[in-house]
Amino acid sequence: MRVLITGGAGFIGSNLCERLLNAGHEVLCVDNFYTGSKNNIIEFLGNNNFEMIRRDISEPFFIYADFIVNLACPASVPYYQNDPLKTMKDNIYGIFNVMENARRLKIPVLHTSTSEVYGSPSVHPQPENYNGNVNTISARSCYNEGKRAAETIMFDYRRQYGMDIKVARVFNTYGPKMLENDGRVVSNFIVQALKGEDLTVYGDGKQTRSFCYISDLIDGIILFMENKSGFTGPVNLGNNYEFTMIDFAKLVISLTGSKSKMKFLELPEDDPVQRNPDLTLAKRVLGYNPRVNIEEGLKKTISYFDRIIKR
Ligand code: UDP
Repeated sequence: MRVLITGGAGFIGSNLCERLLNAGHEVLCVDNFYTGSKNNIIEFLGNNNFEMIRRDISEPFFIYADFIVNLACPASVPYYQNDPLKTMKDNIYGIFNVMENARRLKIPVLHTSTSEVYGSPSVHPQPENYNGNVNTISARSCYNEGKRAAETIMFDYRRQYGMDIKVARVFNTYGPKMLENDGRVVSNFIVQALKGEDLTVYGDGKQTRSFCYISDLIDGIILFMENKSGFTGPVNLGNNYEFTMIDFAKLVISLTGSKSKMKFLELPEDDPVQRNPDLTLAKRVLGYNPRVNIEEGLKKTISYFDRIIKR
């Protein structure tokens, strides 16, 4: 199968490229390199089944493929807030362009949505039928409202044109090939701990997140791609290892053996208080079963960042 991956040079995209190439598929990697990195895909360039196309999905494109996975959007808070109108365009124009390409070719699209569609949730853990608690006008809205609208657009393409769609809601994921300066908590804490700097805990550090190792998320995406039952989702993909940011900082300090301490900084606007995926649907329909425990996943991620920093 020839799979077009938008955002293929990003953290999740490049890990998906690798898995699909190893399974013998052809991969067309589309990226504008805003947050994607050439370092993430350089190892695939000698593979005849891999092709890199520099393109911005907020502009129309037409590329032959058998399947599209849409991952193209800056996803970390500092990057998506850096140019919020562009983030909106990536979400809205981007999904229109992806869907028009797919409509012409009559091919399926798997779109990666996000746990951010639940906003700061009052239902915990979050099942897919929880409609969320989201602010339309905050600094976070360009991302979470953009992602919500993209889901709507996908389901309208299905209603209007009968298209084959799959919508996955990705929860916090970490692992090798994350950007070192991404601004996310996992990369920040690990890099700070390895450099012996204080770990920057935002707010009182009692907010929670649940962390999924990248190989488990990729398993979920592949299971969803291969699912032929007509199941559209939306379906949560992630893991249930839920931590307060204080406890997470302590875990990173202990696993790195660092002498770093914590320092407390201001909480970003509308930062969700809690987050944990209800995985009942993913388990029942896709047979999804995340397996990598948090210590094991963090150790692999720590050694990745250790190599990057030394380089
Ligand atoms: N966070 C933190 N220190 C950091 C970066 C993030 O305490 O250096 C907090 C942030 O306020 C949020 C949580 O960690 O409550 C997860 O942040 P991240 O940006 O990784 O993901 P998201 O907020 O998108 O879930």
